[in-house]
Amino acid sequence: MKVSAHRAFALLKELAYVRVSGTEAEKTAAQRLLAEAQSTGAEAHIEEFTVKAGRVDHAKLVVTEPYVKEYEVTGYERGLNTPEGGLDAEFYYAENVSPVHLKNVKGKVVLINGRLRKKDYEKLQKAEVAGILTFSGSTIDRLSDTDCDIRKLREVLTDAHGDCVALNMRAADAAEMVRRGARKVHVEFKGENYDATSQNVCAVIEGTQYPDEIISFGAHYDSVHFSTGVYDNMSGSVILMELLRYFSEYKPARTLKFNWYGSEEQGLLGSKAWVAAHEDELDKHVLMINIDVAAATLGTNIAPVLATEGAVGYVDALMRELGVACETKLDIYSSDCVPFADKGVPAVNLCRFGTQGAGYIHDRRDNLKSNYLDERALDITLQQALYLTKRVDSAAVFPIERKIADEIKDKVDEYLFKKDKKD
Ligand SMILES: [Zn+2]
Repeated sequence: MKVSAHRAFALLKELAYVRVSGTEAEKTAAQRLLAEAQSTGAEAHIEEFTVKAGRVDHAKLVVTEPYVKEYEVTGYERGLNTPEGGLDAEFYYAENVSPVHLKNVKGKVVLINGRLRKKDYEKLQKAEVAGILTFSGSTIDRLSDTDCDIRKLREVLTDAHGDCVALNMRAADAAEMVRRGARKVHVEFKGENYDATSQNVCAVIEGTQYPDEIISFGAHYDSVHFSTGVYDNMSGSVILMELLRYFSEYKPARTLKFNWYGSEEQGLLGSKAWVAAHEDELDKHVLMINIDVAAATLGTNIAPVLATEGAVGYVDALMRELGVACETKLDIYSSDCVPFADKGVPAVNLCRFGTQGAGYIHDRRDNLKSNYLDERALDITLQQALYLTKRVDSAAVFPIERKIADEIKDKVDEYLFKKDKKD
């Protein structure tokens, strides 16, 4: 049996719906992937794990001085509830949370630029803000074409620095508030925190010659709110399924483990859970191959390698042999490769990035209707993955050293907040 980008794309179409961490839809997608994996004859099962989830019942933001206007907001899941009747406070725009800004934020509802990063959250909490406002999108967004992002106060923030009232709004509204000199605001937030179940779909093909050497494959199948996640990352998920099909028929020399990870978008929760549950076998892992975003018609192939320059040279040479243009580089990649590299397992990511104007991610535009994906483009990454796997699997001696370069170790430590990023 040959791999088929056409068949892969058909499965992608079937799974083109929103699949947020810990939801029924994520579970339904996992069941579908499980059934498909089992249909290849491989041993496949689901491994569950718990995720900290939150539901938002009510979120409200009203400017009360010097003008009165209510703005559309979404509450951060797992945010702190406001007291009965809401809270009234001064408003302050703290831009990028510099020391100058921090002098002025105490007791205020503070608007900051972009995402709520861990370091800024720590500073704002220490400065005792009354609430945090972030914004998403762009100032020219049309209401009918866009959504106001739903975000979550992740445990990496709250475990260390406590809870806070946090809302997200549209960029155009944030700009209007600042422009019109908003001075006082009224904020209401009510939500509930609970434990939800997420799951990884796992399949194994035992190696015929070196069963104790494990090559681990990863692709996350969850999406964010509003996104059908066809590009990010059902594209990688269906490529993995083709590899499973292929090696179910042509048995590998080494043991291949295929994992479709849940809850990646919430902070790599699926791969972190898998690595924690399989700690005792990680020393047998010789390589992790991760596929996260593919199938972009107009785009470019990238292979960030979390290992050594030697590994980069090897992967680059293979891509030249195959005749596929691919920018192979020693670098971290924000995906399920990170927990493996953290444990010393070399990782290669295969990605096809949509180029500017043809690569939509993390919003409603990651959708088949956006017309930026196709099966011919999906086949590029599929062939790269197949070629790389065949070559490393059939090698007499495993060609990639089980080593992570110091610069990658540092980046992984920073990414996982094990040490502070150098400013
Ligand atoms: Zn992704």
